[in-house]
Amino acid sequence: MLYLSTRGHAERKRFCEILLEGLAPDGGLYLPEHYPQVDDAALTRLRHTFNTQGYAALAFELLSLYIDDIPAADLKALCAKTYTQEVYGTEAIVPVRKLEDGLLVEALSNGPTLAFKDMAMQLLGNLFEYELARRGEELNIFGATSGDTGSAAEYAMRGKKGVRVFMTSPHGRMSPFQQAQMFSLMDENIHNIAIEGVFDDCQDLVKAVSNDLDFKTKYKIGTVNSINWARLLAQVVYYFAGYFQATTANSQKVSFTVPSGNFGNVCAGHVARMMGLPVDTLVAATNENDVLDEFFRTGVYRVRGSADTHETSSPSMDISKASNFERFVFDLLGRDAALTKDLFGAQISKNGKFDLSGNPHFAEAAARYGFASGKSTHANRLATIQDVHKRFGEMIDTHTADGVKVAREHLKAGVPMIVLETALPIKFAATIVEALGQEPHRPAKFEGIEALPKRVQVMKADVAQIKAYIAKHCDHA
Ligand SMILES: *Cc1c(COP(=O)(O)O)cnc(C)c1O
Repeated sequence: MLYLSTRGHAERKRFCEILLEGLAPDGGLYLPEHYPQVDDAALTRLRHTFNTQGYAALAFELLSLYIDDIPAADLKALCAKTYTQEVYGTEAIVPVRKLEDGLLVEALSNGPTLAFKDMAMQLLGNLFEYELARRGEELNIFGATSGDTGSAAEYAMRGKKGVRVFMTSPHGRMSPFQQAQMFSLMDENIHNIAIEGVFDDCQDLVKAVSNDLDFKTKYKIGTVNSINWARLLAQVVYYFAGYFQATTANSQKVSFTVPSGNFGNVCAGHVARMMGLPVDTLVAATNENDVLDEFFRTGVYRVRGSADTHETSSPSMDISKASNFERFVFDLLGRDAALTKDLFGAQISKNGKFDLSGNPHFAEAAARYGFASGKSTHANRLATIQDVHKRFGEMIDTHTADGVKVAREHLKAGVPMIVLETALPIKFAATIVEALGQEPHRPAKFEGIEALPKRVQVMKADVAQIKAYIAKHCDHA
């Protein structure tokens, strides 16, 4: 399997080459040259694998279709080591439960940091360690987080050989639970840097360091952001696992509603569908930052400025642009790389938007790709959390509530709707208290984490100071 760039760069690469890379050389995103097809017989085999051997075995089968430069036995061992009952708390790893008639919830949030990003990041940690050891190389991950990404990256990379993490976050702005999750890590290779500023300041620092190519090369700086193909690929697996739990025969279809920000999660659903998984509709649910909902309604993709990007109570979906969206648009346009390059390169940088409403591909997209969307606001979120709690005695987190709200607008008779649960309510306790007047359930292993000693360096938003800190903590200084 070879990988190409959505912007048409001539070079083709193999999986392990793009594993440690971010963007393609031309600024595009990597995608496989084609999507391996899962026909009816193969789907039956995969169903059997999942039902008899479990999630890790299913992951191995699906990943093998895309990865041919890791020996099968090694890949199998990496999957087995990643997706364990010990880490995820259940044998199913991503158990599906019924919420109400026609509406199911798939739990993707039982990993170490209680958000769905663990599903991919835990695998990435093991893949990085494996590949770096094979090459005899090291990598220093430098990132910015407002919460979920940073903690998932740290819990995936902690104690891994060859990898260090330098994670910036806005000082005092993450929830106490999120701060405790990250800052209580005592692993030598994890560095928490609290920046006196807002999330944008953290992102600017990452950009500044990444743009310094000499520094980047000398200190082997890398990222783990959501455009990484390996992350997306790992997420394809739980669409299959959800489908197998919701159906008994391949003639049945399901739909998924996905709380969406950067379009990474729902893009994995698109890939699963392109492979032949019987998906009726993929519904992207957004919060007040409705870049995606606007596109699916109107055909206009419009990047928001920072004044136009809202801080919401489902903060992990607070985006100004959807970084993975280019992958979907590339497919939507029949893989026209020149046009994709024009839209995401020229038009976005010049106008901050593009308009596909007149493009015939957009007009037929809903039919061809089965996409739909919806939006949820703070008031909708509170009402949904209250309703689910009152009727089913269950607490759902704010992002999942956005999903449930939008899913209910897209129910179709005879097609189970699976809402992806992307986090547990304890991560966003303040809004749960606002909605229900009580604290969310706290899993036992997180009892008292706010009181643990913290390991964090507070720093000004100063590029030189950050660089000095990284240099000091790398062997190559
Ligand atoms: C990251 C995140 C999302 C958004 O996922 P995307 O892949 O960016 O669309 C939704 N919910 C939670 C809890 C998250 O952490």
